[in-house]
Amino acid sequence: MNFVESEERIALRKAVGDLARGYGHEYYVKVARSGGHTSDLWNEAGRLGYLGVSVPEEYGGGGAGIGDLAAVCEEFCAAGTPMLLMVVSPAICATVIARYGTEEQKRSWLPRFATGEVRMSFAITEPDAGSNSHRLTTTAKRDGADWILNGRKVFISGVDEADAVLVVGRTEDAKTGKLKPALFIVPTNTPGFEYRQIEMDLVSADKQFGLFLDDVRLPAEALVGSEDAALAQLFAGLNPERIMGASFSIGIARYALDKGVAYAKERSVWGAPIGTHQGIAHPLAQVKIELELAKLMTQKAAALYDSGDDFGAGEAANMAKYAGAEVAIKAVDQAIQTHGGNGMASEYGLGTLLAAVRVGRIAPVSREMVLNFVAQHSLGLPKSY
Ligand SMILES: Cc1cc2nc3c(=O)[nH]c(=O)nc-3n(C[C@H](O)[C@H](O)[C@H](O)COP(=O)(O)OP(=O)(O)OC[C@H]3O[C@@H](n4cnc5c(N)ncnc54)[C@H](O)[C@@H]3O)c2cc1C
Repeated sequence: MNFVESEERIALRKAVGDLARGYGHEYYVKVARSGGHTSDLWNEAGRLGYLGVSVPEEYGGGGAGIGDLAAVCEEFCAAGTPMLLMVVSPAICATVIARYGTEEQKRSWLPRFATGEVRMSFAITEPDAGSNSHRLTTTAKRDGADWILNGRKVFISGVDEADAVLVVGRTEDAKTGKLKPALFIVPTNTPGFEYRQIEMDLVSADKQFGLFLDDVRLPAEALVGSEDAALAQLFAGLNPERIMGASFSIGIARYALDKGVAYAKERSVWGAPIGTHQGIAHPLAQVKIELELAKLMTQKAAALYDSGDDFGAGEAANMAKYAGAEVAIKAVDQAIQTHGGNGMASEYGLGTLLAAVRVGRIAPVSREMVLNFVAQHSLGLPKSY
């Protein structure tokens, strides 16, 4: 067991942090508030190979694991430039295609994931099937060699920036008529595929969309992997999503804690820095402890996933996502409290993160569904729903 990161990963973190700090939170907020995207930062990160660290080497990537990709995501967030699409495009979509795609799909998509040239959204959530993915109603029917997709999705991130969306639909079993999950690559310019932005109270450069799929005709090659093993394939993507969700939250928590601590050292209202008062110092110390614990669990989840233990990674990834979300909410709240009135002033760049960290408790899997998982699978308690 090794609790020290490799020299390569430490160097990767530093290089990514240097790049992201060159842009900084002010850049991010300006872009987000104007309805724009962080394309400059994304493209530069892509050219430098940071978005493709976990794409296999034979397809032009870095050949590393999800642990390195999570470190990249964390550093972007810690610099105040959280790119939500990282949680989806290189983590879920590239991973699923690398593990289960056909050779043709791999050759077509992976080199472009490696350079960040391609962006892919991921769509599972539906209006009537959020936490309960057994109720998905987006269906794929065969028409000759083609597939015809019909359905609706909600809260799908980054569709306006994406070349394609990896859609979780269901196919009908020819023998039993039962619906089975299946994954399809749907280019965003396919006829019958439409999307509409959902107004969110969130300062984010990556927006959310409702999707409408009306008789979307796709070639046979749009299906990723096997029609019969989609659940395993789905989990291959959802564990990285949770690990990346955790590192996203942890990065923002680091950003907020750094700001809170710096302010506590320099601000003085009673003749000594406010960090002298335990009412300010202790909550920051608690955040530091919980941050390190969340990070350890994230690294454990990534190590298990990278070793091929999907089942073990599932428990750790859920716990990491939970811990990351909770500490990020606490970190931003405490950094704002430490800043007093300045905590809500735009100049200090903290209020912009209030809603962003709150998302971590809801998505990609809610706090309650993580607790259900742990109660049932880790503790062996009866299923409640
Ligand atoms: C900013 C943002 C970005 C997102 N991006 C994407 C994306 O790119 N792709 C995508 O597919 N989805 C995305 N989502 C959707 C997200 O994954 C869902 O919102 C989330 O899974 C919860 O589903 P829901 O909103 O339908 O809530 P519901 O399932 O309706 O749940 C509502 C509440 O009830 C609780 N609850 C439900 N069932 C139970 C139970 N059995 N026991 C206890 N409590 C329960 C939930 O925990 C929650 O608190 C995004 C959401 C947000 C906010």
